[in-house]
Amino acid sequence: MGSPYEVSELGKGFWAVKEDFVRFFLIEGSNKAMLIDTGLGGGNLVELVKNLTDKPVIIVNTHADGDHIGGNGFFESIHMHPSEYDYYLFGKQERNSKLIPLWEGDVIDLGGRKFEVILIPGHTPGSIALLDRENRFLFAGDSLQRELIYMIGRGRNLPAFGETLKKLLKLIPAFDTVYAFHGHAVAEGPELVRDVADAYERLMAGQVKGVLTDDPMKAKIYDCGVTRFLTEPDCEL
Ligand SMILES: [Zn+2]
Repeated sequence: MGSPYEVSELGKGFWAVKEDFVRFFLIEGSNKAMLIDTGLGGGNLVELVKNLTDKPVIIVNTHADGDHIGGNGFFESIHMHPSEYDYYLFGKQERNSKLIPLWEGDVIDLGGRKFEVILIPGHTPGSIALLDRENRFLFAGDSLQRELIYMIGRGRNLPAFGETLKKLLKLIPAFDTVYAFHGHAVAEGPELVRDVADAYERLMAGQVKGVLTDDPMKAKIYDCGVTRFLTEPDCEL
């Protein structure tokens, strides 16, 4: 069986890995490397990482949805925000990697490359973004994307997501590029934040009609054009 991973080099010591419908990132500094999310876990992630970098690798999860943590089991320790622990561990006794907390304002220093942790709850309680102020890059997990933003299931919180979008709008002067974990485009500009924020405003103002779907699960889709939200089937906006 071939590898499920499709690797593309985005810059020096910076790779995107596509696994089916999800994308994650590996970034190398002079002292260590960081894997941002672990995908679906469908291949040998340790081997993949070793082929790209010989630096020690730390694993960071933007959030604990299944398509972002699937390869966590390959690694001894995982960094995530503690507000995400409950969702990550709920009913999952087999998750025995050590959890290392990442808090708002923490800085991950890879050596010559630094990433600031920004808490962006709403999609999930402990969703985080990582901001590289020097290169003006932002990684925001599933909270900023043009595919379906899941607001269905455990811990989803639309009002909190609204606050997160205000926070990200204020942060726009600090970044030029948003890297996307889903969708065709690997990178977008800050207009992605404005588009998602506008879509959210229209959604909450009741200007978007929700459509019930049975596929892949009973849910409601609010198609805002620039992005789409997936909610509980009984959601009334
Ligand atoms: Zn996802």
